[in-house]
Amino acid sequence: MNRPNPSSNPSSSNAEIRKHYFLDQYVIIAPKRNLRPDSFSHASEPHKAPSDHCPFCHNAEPSLWQLPRGKNWRVKVIPNAFAALTTDNPQAFGIQEVVLNTPDHTLEFSELPVEHILEIFTAYRQRLAELKQQPGIRYVLIFKNDGPMAGASVAHAHCQIFGLPLIPPKLEQEGDALNHYWDQHQACAYCHILDWEIQQRTRVITGDKHFIALSPHAASHGFETWLLPRRHVNQFSEFNLSELHSLATILRKITARLDAAGISFNYFLQESLPNQNHHFVLKIEPRITKWAGAELSTGLIINPVTPEYATLWYQGKINR
Ligand SMILES: [Zn+2]
Ligand SMILES: [Zn+2]
Repeated sequence: MNRPNPSSNPSSSNAEIRKHYFLDQYVIIAPKRNLRPDSFSHASEPHKAPSDHCPFCHNAEPSLWQLPRGKNWRVKVIPNAFAALTTDNPQAFGIQEVVLNTPDHTLEFSELPVEHILEIFTAYRQRLAELKQQPGIRYVLIFKNDGPMAGASVAHAHCQIFGLPLIPPKLEQEGDALNHYWDQHQACAYCHILDWEIQQRTRVITGDKHFIALSPHAASHGFETWLLPRRHVNQFSEFNLSELHSLATILRKITARLDAAGISFNYFLQESLPNQNHHFVLKIEPRITKWAGAELSTGLIINPVTPEYATLWYQGKINR
């Protein structure tokens, strides 16, 4: 693991190049003196107003799964009406579904009670199990686009599911790096990151006996957060109810902070690749900047928020 330099000063306005814990990936952390979280707000959609045109309020798609059955559902999974990947096209084979988080158009994901988020997790588990056994599907991805900067075309709280006919190369690359780390250290890189960051303290946002939320040392995105189980778990389906409750509680806390500041974000579940022993992580990537020439041409990312600052901001110790 690339051990962060303990002498680095989080309050400094000097830029610093940082390397990812175990990937060949660099970021330029370039904090801005005039930084204010509300300057990253791009909330343009009147999310709080019910919409006559919302496809999710007026969805006519048959439900693939819902809780409970009947008209008064709280969580519902439907086929994606605008799917690019379909099972009847061998040129772009795949499955796309949408998880409607709530029937109420005016509620944000982070405003739902923890018990309701647990029902959304039940939908994740059910669809992961169902899609993974479909012939031709090699990886199932669950993600959320929340807010206009995160690519959410519909404001109504929802998540998306992609059943893919291939292992995404980015995840394969990370999987290779994790396996290489195992070979070198006879240990899981994420387990080591957990130990290291808990010792360091400056990037641990919150946590309980099951999960830790941390802002990674070489975050690509301002206010980026990883939710890591303390237990070395490969798949979402392996979590017990107590662990899921922790995850829901912490995810709600982090997304509520972003929502309150009007910051768009994506989150996604990163499970172990099939037949591998990789550590589950839920990654939250806020979208405060547009990637421009430097990022697009080189993959070298400029992040204007230090992870140490982001940690204090999530903890409510900094308001500007
Ligand atoms: Zn709606
Ligand atoms: Zn691990």
